[in-house]
Amino acid sequence: MTDHYAHWTKQIDGARIAHQIEQLSEIGRTPQGGVTRLAFTREDAAGRARLREWMSAAGLQVQRDAVGNLIGVLRGKNPDAPILACGSHIDTVVNAGKYDGIVGMLCAVECARVIQANGGLNAPLHVINFAMEESARFGAGYGFGSRVMTGAEISKQELFARDRSKVLLARALQELKGWETGAKIATERTALAAAHKDIDASRYDWTRVRAFLELHIEQGPVLERAGKPLGIVTAVAAPTRLQIILNGEQNHSGTTPMPLRHDALAAAAEMILAVERLANEFAAQRVVGTVGMIQAEPNVMNSIPGRVELRVDIRSADADAKRACVQSITRALEWIASKRGIGMELETLTDETPIAFSDAVIQSIERVCAAQNLDALKMPSGAGHDAAHVARVAPAGMIFIPSRGGISHDPREFSTPTEITRGARVLLGALAALDSTNPKDPRADSRTI
Ligand SMILES: [Zn+2]
Repeated sequence: MTDHYAHWTKQIDGARIAHQIEQLSEIGRTPQGGVTRLAFTREDAAGRARLREWMSAAGLQVQRDAVGNLIGVLRGKNPDAPILACGSHIDTVVNAGKYDGIVGMLCAVECARVIQANGGLNAPLHVINFAMEESARFGAGYGFGSRVMTGAEISKQELFARDRSKVLLARALQELKGWETGAKIATERTALAAAHKDIDASRYDWTRVRAFLELHIEQGPVLERAGKPLGIVTAVAAPTRLQIILNGEQNHSGTTPMPLRHDALAAAAEMILAVERLANEFAAQRVVGTVGMIQAEPNVMNSIPGRVELRVDIRSADADAKRACVQSITRALEWIASKRGIGMELETLTDETPIAFSDAVIQSIERVCAAQNLDALKMPSGAGHDAAHVARVAPAGMIFIPSRGGISHDPREFSTPTEITRGARVLLGALAALDSTNPKDPRADSRTI
């Protein structure tokens, strides 16, 4: 297969991207050598200002929507053609690395620069910087900006969430807007109403979009272990979360004979191992199951534990496998509870549907990888990304580049300049390929599994 866009992809300037990554990492630098640029803070605003300069320098007309998503527009030769879009985020968790989100964002801007320098695409190109992808500051779901842009419902409860300094999310939204646009910053009382208005105003028309592409670091060890240079993401895993409350019998640890006990913590121990064993049985379908939280009462040395709360997190990109695993786990826990004479209350806290990316987008990335002689791996993503929210409303796809040691959300996060440049070349190739092929409605291929 020949690479029709080699003369474009060769113009991707890896040194420029590497330099920009270093420059961004100076904003919100931590003593441990990491970066803290939590969403809607002064540091985030400073990072976004720098990004805006680079977007403008690449030839993009940058617009800011009312919640802070940045949309850089490059006019197409055919302004009425369906839009090609790409982008990611630049906000971070606490003491993060330099690459999560940032790499994908800067590669998207670099692609725009090359496209502009070569006279543009047929279709308009929108380069999107999603606001607040990370849930680190307010603890709500990931991808606030992309959920707003795609019209997902933002609950009142989420807007009422407060960070560690007790700042309301709704208020933080207005603060960022104030700093960036000079608008008067609403008081806490009026911030909620203002936020609702801004959310309604920030819906983006995805029916005009032919495809959305996000490049991202893998944040896991799969590509490195497999020795693959690049991943083509097929689906994004989604969690099912269970809350288990076990009611046993609290009693004196010295006077209660063993056969007469109903020890809620011993039952919990058996349940934790059952979750591990059953998730392992579905490991081939990449199901993972974790009991990450336990609380025992009264939690003293000389009492038989009477009440235990467990939280179980089960994830997969394969909806059927996840459902089957959740069913086996539920049955196993019920059996353990009944054989031990323990009362059990099981509540499903969330049951989210995994998202499959568009077959048409996946195939165009595959073709570009073949043309560039890259032995890419098709793989699901265990972590959530903005592209997963976009996939619910428009054809979307993702490109992964390897993460050294599978480490992410940590200052040790690292991808090599070669890996980043390679990713940017595939992103550019895929945009160019989608631009030059006949847009037979690829939306039909976007499905939920
Ligand atoms: Zn990210």
